[in-house]
Amino acid sequence: MFKIITAALLASFLSIALADEIKGRVVSVADADTITVLDAANTQHKIRFEGIDAPEKGQDYGTKATEALKAAIGGNPVRVVTTERDKYGREVGTVFAGDRNLNSWLVENGWAWHYKKYSTDAKLAELETKARAARVGLWADSKAPIAPWDFRSLQKQQRAVKQGDAVPLGYWLNTSSKSRHNSTCRYYKNTSKGRTCEKDEGKACGICGG
Ligand SMILES: [Zn+2]
Repeated sequence: MFKIITAALLASFLSIALADEIKGRVVSVADADTITVLDAANTQHKIRFEGIDAPEKGQDYGTKATEALKAAIGGNPVRVVTTERDKYGREVGTVFAGDRNLNSWLVENGWAWHYKKYSTDAKLAELETKARAARVGLWADSKAPIAPWDFRSLQKQQRAVKQGDAVPLGYWLNTSSKSRHNSTCRYYKNTSKGRTCEKDEGKACGICGG
């Protein structure tokens, strides 16, 4: 019993201790949800924006989203309210440039998704819905990229296939256009109507080769 209480107290103490604030300047923008901040004591902090997920570097709109974030920071100092450290050692938090909450700003302007798997933030969910409806940022593209978490999981699968650790994912048939896409394609599982299919169904996509 005593042990359980001690553990609970320790856990609550740690979560308070981790709610921290970092002030400094941005020395690197890896992508639109990961930056490095250098504080006044010359310590570098790798920051992962909390509750959002932005397109990966190798993904469509990865560069544009990164440029949009850089422009929003505009060389100004930032303040980061961190809540935890993730499994990669990054400090997870909300980034402010002046009064602007950049996590919200990125979703509001269509440069990032609300990261539903890890965040129940109703405000971020609402901002994404509005951004999609207003077709801002990457939502202006009728073929907006797949969500970054789907992109990462497809890449992981493709690496496993290359290493012989997994069988290929198969193909995706756009049942409207009858185009067939392989798992490397941006349209794989990303058409308004479609289903998985075999190699000999439909006609090969001109981009991925089916
Ligand atoms: Zn394709």
